[in-house]
Amino acid sequence: MPTNMISKVLEKAVLPLDVAPPVKKGPASRTSVRRNPNMERLQNGYLFPEISMRREAHEKKYPDAKVISLGIGDTTQPIPSIVTSAMAEYSLALSTPEGYQGYGPEQGQKSLRKAIADVVYPNMGIRDTEVFISDGAQCDIARLQMMFGRDVTIAVQDPTFPGYVDNGVIMGQTGPAAVDEESGGSRYAGIEYMRCAPENAFFPDLSRVRRTDVIFFCSPNNPTGHAASRDQLRQLVDFARRNGSIVVFDSAYASYVSGDDKPRSIYEVPGAREVAIEISSFSKFAGFTGVRLGWAVVPDELLYADGTRVARDFDRVVTTCFNGASSVAQAGGLACLATEEGRAAVARVVAGYKENARVLVDTFQALGKEVYGGDDSPYVWVRLFPGRRSWDVFAEILEKTHVITVPGSGFGPGGEGFVRVSAFNSRDRVVEACARLTSFLA
Ligand code: PLP
Repeated sequence: MPTNMISKVLEKAVLPLDVAPPVKKGPASRTSVRRNPNMERLQNGYLFPEISMRREAHEKKYPDAKVISLGIGDTTQPIPSIVTSAMAEYSLALSTPEGYQGYGPEQGQKSLRKAIADVVYPNMGIRDTEVFISDGAQCDIARLQMMFGRDVTIAVQDPTFPGYVDNGVIMGQTGPAAVDEESGGSRYAGIEYMRCAPENAFFPDLSRVRRTDVIFFCSPNNPTGHAASRDQLRQLVDFARRNGSIVVFDSAYASYVSGDDKPRSIYEVPGAREVAIEISSFSKFAGFTGVRLGWAVVPDELLYADGTRVARDFDRVVTTCFNGASSVAQAGGLACLATEEGRAAVARVVAGYKENARVLVDTFQALGKEVYGGDDSPYVWVRLFPGRRSWDVFAEILEKTHVITVPGSGFGPGGEGFVRVSAFNSRDRVVEACARLTSFLA
């Protein structure tokens, strides 16, 4: 075909610019850009920014009040110096010609991948090449959802950490949200919500769960604090194997598990390598919420229906959307794991938070409240006033005691009626918060 004819054909094939329906501009907008409809679909603000706004408003109202936050699950205690010294040393070396390093491998430094495989997953057959270092579990959730794409169906625990659902909504995996009649909370069409409540030992009745492509499962759970038993996780893995689903197991709180009867990793369960990805984090284990470091394990045996290795696609996403975790943070991560001294130092901080959780549980128990969690988790899940809505309870606690909690309904309809109380604070503040709660609730 002569070139001028080709350009005629192409000219016709190009859609005229005015083909998109005209977008009505808002009052201050200078653009005609259509908002992503999936963003419109997201309900309210993200839970934690909403709580921060309410805290700010409360502090304006009561400028002299000493607000104690047992809300947002942010760590508060200093990072052990063995870890920060390793980061400082690494940083200083960056100022020298010999110590300078630029981009590292996108998947993370070999030494850290190996330390995670050896120390976090002993005898579980995890290879260092299956560990992908990241800037945190939250970011891995988004990258995994991007990898799965818009056409997968997902299941989540109810209540659940909001990141799995919100990233699914942004990807377009769901329909619109509708109000749940019973709880007043909202549910997105297309998501399978697996109720996890005291009545079912915080584990769903899988015979009544609809099959989905991906199942997000967090244990120890945020927000309920429940750590799944070995038998429960075995049921989950069997369910995924029977249905050909992929489990994304979030073990961000694994270091809080007490004793050996509850698994710290999904790979403690036989058969998990063929159906499960695990995401985890240094945030709650080493106080890295600000430093930012996490990892995902994608086993070689985990395959899509067409036989493609899931790890191959995850690697592609990681190399395309992320250029690797900060090398300084990775030096710190290595210091947490590589020596007995480092491991003991971070374990002491976790033990301190666990002791706080015990103080909280004891307080609520002494007040005769229905309380869960705290044994294997920094979170305590409590029903303070049966029959009342979580946001009302949150507001009343804040008003009367200046203590911030998190309303359970923010984690899904199944959380309605509960509040989550976090053990992330100093012992003094936790004790002070307990004294205030006791004088209000007794
Ligand atoms: N997963 C769960 C269950 C969490 O509770 C959190 C943070 O609170 C995250 C992931 C995010 O962790 P990161 O700080 O590693 O992004």
